[in-house]
Amino acid sequence: MAITRGVLCGCALLWPALAWAAPPALSSEIPRLRPLTTLAAEFVARGLDGSPTFRSLVERIERSDVIVYVELEHRTPGAPDGATHLLNASRYFRFLLISINQDLAPADIVAMLGHELQHAVEIADLPAIRDAAALERHYRRDGIVELRTGCVCSEAAREAGRRVRGELAGPQTDPGGDDRRAGGA
Ligand SMILES: [Zn+2]
Repeated sequence: MAITRGVLCGCALLWPALAWAAPPALSSEIPRLRPLTTLAAEFVARGLDGSPTFRSLVERIERSDVIVYVELEHRTPGAPDGATHLLNASRYFRFLLISINQDLAPADIVAMLGHELQHAVEIADLPAIRDAAALERHYRRDGIVELRTGCVCSEAAREAGRRVRGELAGPQTDPGGDDRRAGGA
């Protein structure tokens, strides 16, 4: 499978000063999934359009206390193709950043997004995880440690990526030029 390098990784970071919080009355109105660029938004839309698994993951996130930013970026050789970072936690929300290698094939970008969204759901389901150290401990204890990279992952995330990839390959997928155009280099 193409999805073998999605990681939560030692890439989990804690950025110290996001003190923003919203009162509970507003919390249900705040969008949880937040692509940071037009390109990231296009791939999120592609996942929502083509994959029931992707939609289900987003629906779960929208009912949670995690705010998930999504970015695409060029990666240096050897860097993981996907990562989920825990940035910070406020009183009402936890802030995650999903980062995906934009040089992947378009369908693989969406599948990797699905993989990392599963990690976001896993974090959402564990309210005690509020910093990078707790995240690291959890996955090293209950997850999968990839010996080659030292990154941590979960079987559920790998399966989510495989399912999204398979659903995209189904009858709803447009095999035309858009896929090739959107993939970057
Ligand atoms: Zn993973």
